[in-house]
Amino acid sequence: MELAAFLPGRARSVTVVGSTPAPLVQFGPEIGSAMRKLFESKGVQFKLQAKLVSLIGENGRVTHAVLGDGSQLVAETILVGIGVVPATAFLKDSGIEMNPQGFVKVDATMKTNVDDVYAAGDIVTFPMAALELDNVNIQHWQMAHKHGNVAGAAIAGIAKPIDTVPFFWTMVFGKSIRYTGYGGGHDDVVIHGIVDDLQFVAYYLKKGKVIAVASMGRDPVCAVFAQIFIARKPVTKADIESNPNDDWTSWLSA
Ligand SMILES: Cc1cc2nc3c(=O)[nH]c(=O)nc-3n(C[C@H](O)[C@H](O)[C@H](O)COP(=O)(O)OP(=O)(O)OC[C@H]3O[C@@H](n4cnc5c(N)ncnc54)[C@H](O)[C@@H]3O)c2cc1C
Repeated sequence: MELAAFLPGRARSVTVVGSTPAPLVQFGPEIGSAMRKLFESKGVQFKLQAKLVSLIGENGRVTHAVLGDGSQLVAETILVGIGVVPATAFLKDSGIEMNPQGFVKVDATMKTNVDDVYAAGDIVTFPMAALELDNVNIQHWQMAHKHGNVAGAAIAGIAKPIDTVPFFWTMVFGKSIRYTGYGGGHDDVVIHGIVDDLQFVAYYLKKGKVIAVASMGRDPVCAVFAQIFIARKPVTKADIESNPNDDWTSWLSA
């Protein structure tokens, strides 16, 4: 989506092909739909709930992308970003514990099950105490940075169990969406503000408790919420409803 936001005005036309019903749908259908409208207002076209199945070319250059329904898109350049897998095949048979997807399991000091072997970053699953998650894989720059810091300290003999929460942001067309927490398995979403105006805070809840927050144009809500997660201060739906202005800075210090 960052590339699709970069290309209008540089490419003759831009079409995003995706398998989901809306772009960035992990933020929920309302935000996905608002993002789609933003991109469409800049000339980006969408083929959603679609699948790229093959490419057709001529003289060593691509000419068409073929979709699952048999339709073809004329294309001079195709950028493909379909999933990621950890490059850990070389660890097979090493004795280092990995899950079936190839992620390396580490403890809170980033140590694997093998003495003196540490792992960090995108390839690991690790315990995230602040959000009560046991083996979680988070692929964010900030997280990899923190992992390296904790692993380095452990190797130097300084016990410093990891205590951080994910914080992520992206920029499209000069608009920034921020996200903190881990929204996997959320069963409720409360939105303050107007999503179509790209001025909102979305609270993702699980069993009545906020587990993640996304925002646009409403700083510093996500940054403050990262601190709330670290401080282990549970925030409920009633807390959100009694805070219509999303002033969590004074709530945190209360
Ligand atoms: C397209 C894209 C956009 C992203 N955008 C964002 C973003 O906006 N914000 C954000 O926070 N995060 C973003 N990320 C995620 C972020 O880049 C990763 O979380 C971060 O780089 C992970 O760091 P790492 O050190 O674990 O792995 P990497 O940065 O992938 O580094 C691993 C290194 O190990 C090397 N390597 C692999 N196997 C071996 C081997 N056998 N021997 C020696 N070397 C090896 C690789 O070549 C690589 O250099 C993005 C990722 C991608 C792919």
